[in-house]
Amino acid sequence: MEELKQAILGLDQPEYRVKQVYEGIYSNIWLHASNFTTLPLSLRNELERRFHFLPLSESQRLESKDRLTQKVLFSLMDGLHIETVLMHYEQRHTVCISSQVGCRMNCSFCATGQMGYQRNLSSGEIIAQVLYFVRELKAQQQSLSNVVVMGMGEPFDNYEDVLTAIDRLNDPQGFNLGARRFTISTVGLPDRIRQFADEKRQVNLAVSLHAATNALRNQLIPVNRKYPLEALMEACHYYSRQTNRRITFEWALINAINDSKDQAKRLVELTHGLRCHVNIILLNPTSQYSQQPSTTAQAKSFKDVLDTHGLPCTIRLRRGIEIQAGCGQLASRDQSSAAKSHATLI
Ligand code: SAH
Repeated sequence: MEELKQAILGLDQPEYRVKQVYEGIYSNIWLHASNFTTLPLSLRNELERRFHFLPLSESQRLESKDRLTQKVLFSLMDGLHIETVLMHYEQRHTVCISSQVGCRMNCSFCATGQMGYQRNLSSGEIIAQVLYFVRELKAQQQSLSNVVVMGMGEPFDNYEDVLTAIDRLNDPQGFNLGARRFTISTVGLPDRIRQFADEKRQVNLAVSLHAATNALRNQLIPVNRKYPLEALMEACHYYSRQTNRRITFEWALINAINDSKDQAKRLVELTHGLRCHVNIILLNPTSQYSQQPSTTAQAKSFKDVLDTHGLPCTIRLRRGIEIQAGCGQLASRDQSSAAKSHATLI
């Protein structure tokens, strides 16, 4: 609002115009200055000339066979690409957004990690991904339930823009999506987790754990060498104390890598005394990682260990795998032919 105010006042407009424009963008989710019919024509023209209402454009869309998952490849204004996923589940509609073009974290099993890093997304580009799908849902008399920052990129490596975007979408004067409807998933950067804890938002936090020993986590998640499990867990405890909120730990089960009873027991020990929930999914295939997902039976026996020790956990359904829209499969350069042949291109 403050930035917009500077821009509008700079155009010699009275202050009440600021709220009109803000509401047009975030409450009415208008895309064209011509929609702002309460504004004088001269101001509409000026807005059109000076601002971009939509800093991305759809260049490809894939839909899963069950039609419950859609993935859109967006072109940004500098020609780079990102992917965003919309998921329908019962009455819920969730959008999974990207926070960076590529990623610096280089996790071995993740397609985005495999493509390398290009740049951070601006808060505007982050918001635009959400509002893009909100417009579509609205046209079908549906509304957005949740936003998960689990697409391309490491959100805590682009902290300012991600949190600015969430705060803006959360603003009661604008889009007004409740803070609890957002989830940020991080690879686990302790300093940022502490900062996030200190800011005491109601936004949910998920931490990608995937291994309960440093030796194994170093292999899967290179940043673990800089921030080993001890530092990560200390930050998680700090978060828990500061916010009193439950943390979600993510665990992608990889056959014969991190699906042993021993890892499960160590996970129980590692999370001892922390209010948390473990989300287990089977590894999604990516082009440059040769390992396989665990079997369902192995997933069950991993879960049994957690259950026995009272560690809350859920085995999550995988969605959109055949259109490469599943966790860790987003990579703008990797519009694989397999994905195209199995999916409806719309
Ligand atoms: N950088 C953030 C967001 C990444 S994507 C993070 O690390 O959390 C969201 C989740 O998908 C993370 O838990 C990530 O580890 C997981 N993921 C990445 N590649 C995957 C794959 N091939 N199969 C299953 N999950 C994967």
